[in-house]
Amino acid sequence: MQVLKFGGTSVNDAKAIAQVAAIAADQLKTDPNVVVVTSAMRGVTDLLINSAKAAASGDRQRYRDARSTLVTRHRDAAEVLIPDLDDLARVQELTDERIREFERLCMAVAILGELTDRGLAVISGLGERLLAPILAAAIRARGLKAEFVDAGELIVTDDNHASAAPDMDATRAATRGRLLPLLEAGVMPVVTGFVAATPSGVPTVLGRGGSDYSAAILGAALDADEIQIWTDVDGVLTADPRIVKEARTLSELTYSEAAELAYFGAKVLHPKTMLPAIDLGITISVRNTFNPGFAGTRIVAQAVNVGTVKALTVIRGLALITVAGRGMMGVPGIAARTFAAVAAQGANVLMISQASSEQSICFVLPEPDASHVVAALESAFAGEIHRRLIDRVTLEPEVVIVAVVGEGMRGTPGIAAKLFGALGEKQLNVIAVAQGSSEANISLVLAAADADAAVRYMHTAFGLAG
Ligand code: ASP
Ligand code: MG
Repeated sequence: MQVLKFGGTSVNDAKAIAQVAAIAADQLKTDPNVVVVTSAMRGVTDLLINSAKAAASGDRQRYRDARSTLVTRHRDAAEVLIPDLDDLARVQELTDERIREFERLCMAVAILGELTDRGLAVISGLGERLLAPILAAAIRARGLKAEFVDAGELIVTDDNHASAAPDMDATRAATRGRLLPLLEAGVMPVVTGFVAATPSGVPTVLGRGGSDYSAAILGAALDADEIQIWTDVDGVLTADPRIVKEARTLSELTYSEAAELAYFGAKVLHPKTMLPAIDLGITISVRNTFNPGFAGTRIVAQAVNVGTVKALTVIRGLALITVAGRGMMGVPGIAARTFAAVAAQGANVLMISQASSEQSICFVLPEPDASHVVAALESAFAGEIHRRLIDRVTLEPEVVIVAVVGEGMRGTPGIAAKLFGALGEKQLNVIAVAQGSSEANISLVLAAADADAAVRYMHTAFGLAG
């Protein structure tokens, strides 16, 4: 059993979709059970979301313009891909219906002047619901049996509509009940990524970039042998090739390395993708739709070649906040109150570091949240600041996190020394450091201006170019 997921660029136009159909057909030669999961066409989800947001603020032109883009892109692709006129007519009818639904929903949002998460989930999931029937027909055009399936019938989630969490037991039952009979009948299911539904059938979505996660959830529900994530690059790279020319594709990674990399900004995989696969030990592979002969990256429980540092990533657009003061030493509850104040602002903390002198706590968060958080901390600690127990709450803007990832760093001495050596030699200043106790990741906070140079030096220092 193979679950094949195709990203937005892989289904961007008729030519790309034809390539996807060829890959799916090819897979069928080695495995009779193939399930396809698809994203929306590239840019479509953004278009839908932006139209809905504009509608909420009274702008009705935006969704009318989007409407014609959606009609053209989907109808044109279908026309090229589906030679059978009856099949084409059915698919075009479905496309038109979905686009009318989009317009009606946006009109309702404009009238209400409000966009709820529930409304946003319905509208943002339309891209997958538009594309999957076209892809299914394109696969049928190759003489195979394929059928479009709405993941709202398969993936059961909570009601956190815009970033819903799956109920794996309910999902397993629904998925097997719906997909196994199709597979037994020799029909390839073509499932919408990203979308799901609550137990009562209200549409939800799994969060931006969530179709990787959809594929992993379905793969686990079906006890698949492999989950293949087909994208537009050769796999997971040692570093961003725009920064490091010599960056190369990793042939193998562990689940935790892939999760660390995804969490720390490597764009290839949604960070949650590994979760459903870990328990069952399902291999995830990252493949390139436009270079299908290349093996890509395999993500497994245990790597054959452990190595030490595997890859480097950068998260940009961050700020560092420090709460400092000599009076903090040995005082319980400062950290709890700090992070309670941060959480109350809805800010996501990416990294925390406290030295054992306990004279400061620093943490990193997205820059847009920083000034609110500083204000919230100043008011939460007004008493301590007044009594001089806390000297200050400072904000350092324009920083990045460079994450150094590799499970083989665990128990290997000298990695940190080599890292700081490489940076020190080039006069690059490390502002803060954190290492998780898993030792699979060391995170460095650097000034944004130093990021690219730091990544290049470390890439060389750790011999990542091979
Ligand atoms: N189409 C959705 C998005 O753009 C899901 C995905 O592409 O994975 O977020
Ligand atoms: Mg995507």
